[in-house]
Amino acid sequence: NKAKTSGERYLFYTQKMTDMAAGKLTLENQLRQALDKGEFVLHYQPKVNLASGKMTSAEALIRWNDPRTGLVPPGRFIPILEETGLIHEVGRWALRQAIKDALRWRSAGLAAVRIAVNVSPLQLRHRGFIDEIRQAISIDAHAAAGLELEITESLLMENVQHSITSLHAIRDMGVTLAIDDFGTGFSSLSYLSKLPVDTLKIDRSFVIEMTDAPESLALVSTIISLAHALKLKVVAEGVETEEQSRLLQVLNCDEIQGFLFSKPVPSDIFEAKYLALPSSP
Ligand code: C2E
Ligand code: MG
Ligand code: MG
Ligand code: MG
Repeated sequence: NKAKTSGERYLFYTQKMTDMAAGKLTLENQLRQALDKGEFVLHYQPKVNLASGKMTSAEALIRWNDPRTGLVPPGRFIPILEETGLIHEVGRWALRQAIKDALRWRSAGLAAVRIAVNVSPLQLRHRGFIDEIRQAISIDAHAAAGLELEITESLLMENVQHSITSLHAIRDMGVTLAIDDFGTGFSSLSYLSKLPVDTLKIDRSFVIEMTDAPESLALVSTIISLAHALKLKVVAEGVETEEQSRLLQVLNCDEIQGFLFSKPVPSDIFEAKYLALPSSP
């Protein structure tokens, strides 16, 4: 009986949809609690200058240390934080935590590195965000100079005029700015030249394809030339092999970041492995 079958199917789907909605609600509550309980952590991944082979800075990458399941990667919860508006609080936490970590390392006299923090375009659009940054960097005179913010290309272009205004305000505080995942959005070249940014980060997808697909190699090469023509630094993300690294060096890329040099690591390991100054003989 046809009607019955479709009826059952309808029931099935609504049940599934209810389950999904409930699952999301639980996750939202869990994420809220995670923030209260201090279960978010920052891992750090070095960026390396290709000419010197030395680390110049590091990117802070958030994880949720869920006591029941272990480390949850940001791809699984950032979209929910963004949907629910929790991204503002969690983003503020990440910004403050990264600045705190950097201050601790500076105070301990460890190697000085700039720390990059990822910012959701929703945060950038938020009215209070500029003041939040101002407050967060006020804890230490060196905080602004030691901070970089990474903003994904795609959404930066949605409201270009507002983005330009906000980015100028941030840069006026002495904070540097990077466009993340460059090449995946649709930046108009005329706007790109007007964005007050310091760095372009070439998206990992191009780096992966670069060694096999001539079109991707051409793209990477073009992005590097474009960046330099605009007096921007260019970083390639997701570099996993020596071959990619060598090729990027030939193409004049300034810095690389990826598993080849290091995976993102917990802050204590980052400190011990990459910031400890060589002990004098
Ligand atoms: P992203 O900013 O583009 O960060 C690069 C991602 O690539 C990171 O994933 C990093 O672990 C990964 N990665 C780095 N090198 C390699 C490599 O050689 N091979 C491979 N396969 N992957 C590599 P992760 O940590 O899972 O972060 C994913 C995204 O989540 C980030 O992309 C960023 O957009 C977002 N995110 C992370 N932390 C934050 C945060 O504090 N706030 C906001 N708003 N977003 C964040
Ligand atoms: Mg990033
Ligand atoms: Mg990126
Ligand atoms: Mg990326």
